[in-house]
Amino acid sequence: MHELRLHNTLSGKTEPFVPLRAGEVKMYTCGPTVYDYAHIGNFRTFVFQDILRRYLKQRGLKLTHAMNLTDVDDRIIANAAAAEVGIREYTEKFAQAFFADCQALSVEAPEHWIRATDHIPDMVRLIERLQKKNFTYDSEGSIYFRIARFPEYGKLSKIDLTGIQAGARVDNDRYEKESARDFALWKAPKAGEHFWETEIGKGRPGWHIECSAMAMKYLGETLDIHTGGIDLAFPHHENEIAQSEGATSKPLARYWLHAQHLLVEGEKMSKSLGNFFTMRDLYRKGYKPSALRYALASVPYGRQLNFTFDGLQQATSSVERIRNFADRLKQRKFAAGSPQGMKERAAKALDDFDAGLADDLNTAVALAAAFDFVREANIAMDSGGFGQDDMASAEQFLEAFDEIFAVVKDNDGEKLKQLGFAPGESGIGDAEVEAKIGERQAARQRRDFARSDEIRKELAERGIMIEDSKDGSVRWKRK
Ligand SMILES: [Zn+2]
Repeated sequence: MHELRLHNTLSGKTEPFVPLRAGEVKMYTCGPTVYDYAHIGNFRTFVFQDILRRYLKQRGLKLTHAMNLTDVDDRIIANAAAAEVGIREYTEKFAQAFFADCQALSVEAPEHWIRATDHIPDMVRLIERLQKKNFTYDSEGSIYFRIARFPEYGKLSKIDLTGIQAGARVDNDRYEKESARDFALWKAPKAGEHFWETEIGKGRPGWHIECSAMAMKYLGETLDIHTGGIDLAFPHHENEIAQSEGATSKPLARYWLHAQHLLVEGEKMSKSLGNFFTMRDLYRKGYKPSALRYALASVPYGRQLNFTFDGLQQATSSVERIRNFADRLKQRKFAAGSPQGMKERAAKALDDFDAGLADDLNTAVALAAAFDFVREANIAMDSGGFGQDDMASAEQFLEAFDEIFAVVKDNDGEKLKQLGFAPGESGIGDAEVEAKIGERQAARQRRDFARSDEIRKELAERGIMIEDSKDGSVRWKRK
């Protein structure tokens, strides 16, 4: 095994990972705010933390991982009040959808799934600790954290605090660096809003205190790893540090890992640009859970991921390639011995795979190691150069590969069915239509018009109309 190194946002460096207690890892991930369906940008982070948890376990570490569901924050309170339902009722549907999406993407359940609304007393106790140490002040029934009392404020996100007015406050859960202010730990209820009756008064917790209280309850006052998307570094994680470290005088987390942003076709994802996708939107277009997981996992978390439909198409073929290889291996029709030493080649692939992941979870290197091996092993199989004695190490490699990437087993149909995507009459998704059109274009280029007509006819029978434009491009629509 190679030495594991991780990029720590706190130090700004890639450092050897040494857990606080040898052999054990305590990890916290900020989960989704369940006010809507999670989108592919959210799942980029959740797939990254899944790869991390699987790899820590593959290295033999005993992992305790807690992940929260934020089921009370500004947006939930507002939406639930508008819908005239309780917040639990409002969030339940999205919480269940999130669990189902995780299952479809083979994102493992953490050891602790926890909900903010089940931990209000823990948050109240943490706020009381901060009150006793004079980190707070009250204003109009709300309780604020005084950032001037915590000189290390800004150490994670490296924000510049000069020019910030002492005593200026912010009530929103989410705000920009430019408006770094004393933030609300506890918010006084507004008319019509859900609130709790507690020792520190009527009200509801701020978003940041939720994670501080829950992380420390399940994992202790100092965690090994805290993960989240980069957009959470400020203010959320900065505020978590201030609250927890203010109360305990101990570091909250030793390694802070952040997944970088996801772009869609080179642009920031937004509903107004029409490039905003939930997982379900993509399943509806005919893409498979395995291809989505692969596409989200294939770019190392420390790099921006440009999500494209071409990339998703490539991910689909990569998954096919590895599945075909696994099937070929299962057929066991090989000559005796190890005619070309492929078993040593498999051992090297395993070593390269581990080296990639140990290097700050470089999934691109790990995948390259896998596909180089698969290509060479396929060539050896074609020429009789792959023998019975090579099988065990090739199988061992595939097993290690799938412990992390989890795409070899072909259970996409089953997963989609569970999400309620039964194949329709035509059963053709966008991805398959695009592939057929590509095939037809290729046929036309080689002047095979019989084949081109055949594909047009097949698509028409399945409800897809295609139009050729004068500039050579092809448009299509459903009947
Ligand atoms: Zn959090």
